[in-house]
Amino acid sequence: MTQSGFTSKLLHADRRSGVQHGSIHKPIHTAVTYAYDDSRELAAVFQGKQSGYTYGRQVNPTVDALQNKITMMEDGVATAAFSTGMAAICTTFFALLRAGDHVISSSFLFGNTNSVFKTFESHGIEVTFVDATNVANVAAAIKENTKLVFVETIANPRTQVADLINIGDLCEAQNLLYCVDNTMTTPYLFQGKRAKASLVFNSLTKYIGGHANALGGAVTETGLYDWSKFENLYSNYKKGDVSSWGITQIKKKGLRDFGATLGPEAAHHISIGSDTLALRMERACENARTLTEYLSSHDSVKKVYYPGLSGHPQHQLSTELFKHCGALFSIELNDEIDCFDFLNRLNLVISASNLGDTRSLGIPVAHTIYHEMGPERRATMGIDDSLVRFAIGIEETEDLLADFEAALSVS
Ligand SMILES: *Cc1c(COP(=O)(O)O)cnc(C)c1O
Repeated sequence: MTQSGFTSKLLHADRRSGVQHGSIHKPIHTAVTYAYDDSRELAAVFQGKQSGYTYGRQVNPTVDALQNKITMMEDGVATAAFSTGMAAICTTFFALLRAGDHVISSSFLFGNTNSVFKTFESHGIEVTFVDATNVANVAAAIKENTKLVFVETIANPRTQVADLINIGDLCEAQNLLYCVDNTMTTPYLFQGKRAKASLVFNSLTKYIGGHANALGGAVTETGLYDWSKFENLYSNYKKGDVSSWGITQIKKKGLRDFGATLGPEAAHHISIGSDTLALRMERACENARTLTEYLSSHDSVKKVYYPGLSGHPQHQLSTELFKHCGALFSIELNDEIDCFDFLNRLNLVISASNLGDTRSLGIPVAHTIYHEMGPERRATMGIDDSLVRFAIGIEETEDLLADFEAALSVS
């Protein structure tokens, strides 16, 4: 009896991996350390000759169970979980890059990932930002020392969609590590493996956890990259199947050095939240689709950015690649409408940062999350001062429509 549906697999993952007392969830294991009756056994575990738990910074059964669920969702070979999405991204770069390396990144990037790249530039790693909606720009930026290409599936807040498949083919041909941040689409809408991604990132804080009650992040090894050709691996970690050498170094060295460990309580919250990912995404994406259709024909709205709209530059690609076009969109209002006043007139939609919550959230992007970046970098990312981003939740569609209608009618 095997169920193959996305949700069926998730719901029964813990139980099937053998949980004590027949518990239907993996329990929250809070112990930091693990006792062995025979000290030789402890040594064998440390030396990797026997599997087992040693110390909570690197391994924990509750976190392991969540990692297995994410691996299952992404159809990968292994996952490393971290305390936040940023910890997953930053630790991975620290574990795999060295001074003198070159990275190519999409210029349409989550603000903090942009900040991480700026930090890395000051540590001797060169970063070239390109318009990743066209593979030609990535190809043109490749140098002899290029190690890694980083893109997001649907960028936040302007919703540019990376040329995912073509960049995957390019990275494969050039033997470059292809890192895809799948936070916006989640493995329910899109699996990075389909674009031949080497490593897939997910901020678990967002849709996967789904309820804004726990922070977490993950990187999943797809098994497609040939690590035998990657120069920055230490010989200690080149053991076992070549397809997992990278994730081994990320876990054993990166997580140990950095210590940005996901706690067992957060892992539990995220795991329970992930059970309903498919249901929540269906509803939230449908809400976003309906709202963007309504807004794009409204006289008070200048622009709507959403890949599900036929006028979006990557609409065709998005409908081919993604099950739905996501639950996040941005708008620019007509000049006479103040974006702050508009947000204040919304009753249901909350003025708040974050995305992937069950509740709908709105934020004036240039004045908040992208404020520190400054006007010049914002201009290169196409972020206008009036841009408002909406991360739509799972409220009833009629209620959201009524809220937007009321807020737009008083102008
Ligand atoms: C939120 C987010 C992150 C970072 O995740 P945190 O859990 O907040 O650290 C990374 N990438 C994208 C696309 C995000 O939206």
